Amino acid sequence: MKISWRTIVLWSLPALVIGFFIWQGAFAQTAVNMGSNTARTRMSYGRFLDYLQADRVTSVDLYDGGRTAIVEAVDELNNQVERLRVDLPVNSPDLISRLREANINFDSHPPRNEGAVWGLLGNLIFPILLIVGLFFLFRRSSNVPGGPGQAMNFGKSKARFSMEAKTGVLFDDVAGVDEAKEELQEVVTFLKKPERFTAVGARIPKGVLLVGPPGTGKTLLAKAIAGEAGVPFFSISGSEFVEMFVGVGASRVRDLFKKAKENAPCIIFIDEIDAVGRQRGAGIGGGNDEREQTLNQLLTEMDGFEGNSGIIIIAATNRPDVLDSALLRPGRFDRQVTVDAPDIKGRLSILNVHSRDKKLSNEISLEAIARRTPGFTGADLANLLNEAAILTARRRKEAITMLEIDDAVDRVVAGMEGTPLMDGKSKRLIAYHEVGHAIVGTLLKEHDPVQKVTLVPRGQARGLTWFMPNEEQGLISRSQILARISGALGGRAAEKVIFGDAEVTTGAGNDLQQVTGMARQMVTRYGMSNLGPLSLETGQSEVFLGRDMMTRSEYSDEIASRIDAQVRTIVEHCYEEACQMMRDNRVVIDRLVDLLIEKETIDGDEFRQIVAEYTQVPEKERYVPIV
Ligand code: ADP
Ligand code: MG
Ligand code: ZN
Repeated sequence: MKISWRTIVLWSLPALVIGFFIWQGAFAQTAVNMGSNTARTRMSYGRFLDYLQADRVTSVDLYDGGRTAIVEAVDELNNQVERLRVDLPVNSPDLISRLREANINFDSHPPRNEGAVWGLLGNLIFPILLIVGLFFLFRRSSNVPGGPGQAMNFGKSKARFSMEAKTGVLFDDVAGVDEAKEELQEVVTFLKKPERFTAVGARIPKGVLLVGPPGTGKTLLAKAIAGEAGVPFFSISGSEFVEMFVGVGASRVRDLFKKAKENAPCIIFIDEIDAVGRQRGAGIGGGNDEREQTLNQLLTEMDGFEGNSGIIIIAATNRPDVLDSALLRPGRFDRQVTVDAPDIKGRLSILNVHSRDKKLSNEISLEAIARRTPGFTGADLANLLNEAAILTARRRKEAITMLEIDDAVDRVVAGMEGTPLMDGKSKRLIAYHEVGHAIVGTLLKEHDPVQKVTLVPRGQARGLTWFMPNEEQGLISRSQILARISGALGGRAAEKVIFGDAEVTTGAGNDLQQVTGMARQMVTRYGMSNLGPLSLETGQSEVFLGRDMMTRSEYSDEIASRIDAQVRTIVEHCYEEACQMMRDNRVVIDRLVDLLIEKETIDGDEFRQIVAEYTQVPEKERYVPIV
């Protein structure tokens, strides 16, 4: 745990309060002790009067304005002179006269001054400490984001970047992004041996932009560069620049670069740079002045240091298209490195990295996992193995088996497992729906093979049919898309053919959404319809506050209605194909449904075997082993 000043001050306050009371007590005590001088033994007032009567008192010294007396008296028993302390009643006016009468030596002493001084100090020490404590607290909290002091001194607010002297990450810890690693290897050399480049007059690049979807390892790569080069790693997130108060962002940029220059050579990593680096002067409702000032400051700082100062700025984004062009021009982030979701080989090597510290049973094939997880990023795969490890621990097993991996994949992809439905009509209908998907998937040559069919609900789904993506998702042919559309319609087709039009359910809603999406893309993006090879829509049609405003599709109403007609034709064709398969294979479907209701889950191989007893099952493309 790191102990900050703030913690110390906070915790010391109660201690101070308690300390104060003890101190006060101590001082009060001292004051009396001083006053009463050396006498330790106390004598009661009554006894004192008796002694007085008996003429045993030899002298009396009065202290504290007559409230305490030190009495010298001759002891009754051993006839020795003793000094005793007596507390006198406040009103004893006749005491003085009696002392005089008895001819006793008496004197009065003013209260001692040191005692008063110490008492005063004792009284003051607590408020002083409190004020000092509060001052510290206030000063500290003004550096804490959103702390109460923030509003008071936002102008000189400290940057909220973090610095790691040693990241401890090496290129070996980053897998599946070999091209990116190769490009960045050069950056490591810039940091380690800049002379090699400057000697021949080369200008060392200042900025590298890592572009890629979340979880692909951009942060990890940046850390690995710092780790390989053995330089400090400064990092800040773009969103942290943009604050409530004007000028904070710009001053953070200044602070960051100042600190970096003191620590050069080093890496500055700006995560989510799109938060601050969006195209200026664009967006609905005018620009964001604060953001633009921050961006301007960033641009200025990047121009402000020489290329050879040993600072390399690495920024990460998944939206390079919205970045201000000034950021991308030479001399700034002129190098772009793409960090994409890994392909099957990449996934295998990432799994290798992350299984280093996991206990895997011998039967586990990382290749099979890589095959099952198209579209998974590095972060997804790391999470997957962790989930599997948790499951293994929960099941009290020695090592992770394929069972846990499969469950973990299912869980990551489709959500938490639910409790199976009770047997009944709706369970039967769901069984037909899923077998419908699986039958189409099995009988169409172009479709990915069935991995398993299950009635165990997960996430939103009441039943699920899993397919094994056969190859990398790189290029997909027209017949493959059509097969997928038919397969996705298989569920609804089964409901309709078996139960009739009146009984179809809402269960196919999600399927239909996918179907429509795929068919529409065939027409508008991939030129796979009778509209010809035209791209009518761009990939991203979300309205962003940045540049994307302009990228709405532009075509005439006539084209629009032709698109709709084409989409409908494709879907109807596939639906009819799926329905025909249900009618043709009714016997095997009934048998599979009974089996599925009994077993809850049917494995892909078993499924294919049963279907093969009734009809010809097309041979699907074999997997190419990963080399
Ligand atoms: P990004 O910054 O691109 O969103 P991160 O670098 O933060 O992704 O990755 C999050 C985590 O996922 C990493 O800490 C690492 O455990 C894992 N990870 C992501 N990509 C990879 C990769 N290519 N190789 C190994 N691990 C990875
Ligand atoms: Mg990141
Ligand atoms: Zn379905």
